[in-house]
Amino acid sequence: MADDLTDEATALLQDLIRNKCVNDGTVGSGDEVRSSDRLTEYLEGCGSDIEHYEPQPGRRSVLAKIEGSDPTAPTLMLMGHTDVVPVNPEGWTRDPFGGELDDGMIWGRGAVDMLNLTSTMAVAFSHLARSGFRPRGTLLFLGVADEEALGTWGAKYLVEHELDAMRSDYVITESGGYQVPTPAGVRLPIMVEEKGTFWSNITVHGTPSHASQAYRTDNALVTAAEVVRRIAEYRPEAQIGDTWRRYVEGLGLPPELTDPDQVDEFIADLPLALGRIAHSCTHTTMAPTVAHGGTKTNIIPDRVDLQVDVRTMPGQSGEAARDMLLEAIGDLADRVDITSNDDPATASPTDTPLWDSLSRVTAKLCEGSALVPTIMTGGTDNRFFRRAGSIGYGFGLFSRRIRFEDYAKMFHGHDERVDQESLNLSTQLWLALAEDVLA
Ligand SMILES: [Zn+2]
Repeated sequence: MADDLTDEATALLQDLIRNKCVNDGTVGSGDEVRSSDRLTEYLEGCGSDIEHYEPQPGRRSVLAKIEGSDPTAPTLMLMGHTDVVPVNPEGWTRDPFGGELDDGMIWGRGAVDMLNLTSTMAVAFSHLARSGFRPRGTLLFLGVADEEALGTWGAKYLVEHELDAMRSDYVITESGGYQVPTPAGVRLPIMVEEKGTFWSNITVHGTPSHASQAYRTDNALVTAAEVVRRIAEYRPEAQIGDTWRRYVEGLGLPPELTDPDQVDEFIADLPLALGRIAHSCTHTTMAPTVAHGGTKTNIIPDRVDLQVDVRTMPGQSGEAARDMLLEAIGDLADRVDITSNDDPATASPTDTPLWDSLSRVTAKLCEGSALVPTIMTGGTDNRFFRRAGSIGYGFGLFSRRIRFEDYAKMFHGHDERVDQESLNLSTQLWLALAEDVLA
């Protein structure tokens, strides 16, 4: 059975990769209707209810449901997005949308983010439905559009407009579940917390005049350059949260990583990729990313617009993030206007029945393993469901062939790929989890 299901997951994953549902952030991109239709075609006939939601032409999501017999039992949703981010084909050694299978490895954009999980979720769901699974609790599968551009036409829309159909006690989506070997046994990181975004636009003001007389002009571009420099040099204080502490302890990492007085110095000596992760998990971060300003070579500009990607810590309010930005800008604050979009961090507790179920089933699938809670420095669709009251975790399972270093590099990177053993493990995980949570 395992091999048949792995073959089904492989074929489905290859098709989802080849559908090339590239989301570039514009409303006309993505065109997830193709993968929604492919999933529908795959799920049809398995005996479950199937619904579609298409808030914009082409941006279609699919929801399948096995209704539970006991309305007081929990509802579990397996949620996988169907869109992917763009590629730069020059960096790839294979066709990024070819879905090639070679030596047990499937190549293509989305292979780890997260068409692999979307496929295995659909396969497990369909298998359960076909084999007459009649649980007490309800099982949902959501193949959702537009995750890669803030969920506007996907999870955000669905939670705002279709919550009655979507409401779930438990939601599982990306990401986590790569195997980390430690002296105490394999540890499996599971995302329980996501940092917030506080994307800010900073308008820097100046006074227009003729650029041929540059002496002591009020040049918005020069001021903006100093604003950018100050933000880049600003060093927010370290904050050690409970999830980070448990992650460091769970993986047996050096204790300096959880000491607010030592962590900055310690991070400076880490390999850069690890240092970046450790820094993001323990600090508010601010990255100036876009600048627009000036109109003509001979005009001193009176306005420059900067965009700054601010990522907030759990519990940090928008007001606190704004204060931090103002502190960084210092005495130039009265020369700027700041507008921000506050999308705060979200987290789910770990003393939950879902956590216990996941611990039980993963300990069987990966012998001697244990879960370790971790933080996502970016965001996933889980944030919408957490705010609507769900317990939301990011998880899946990967074989030992996918090491964390490779996994992290492949996210939105070149040569994204996943092996069939990982597909097998994830499929088995969803099957066992549904039984454990809902039966
Ligand atoms: Zn993703």
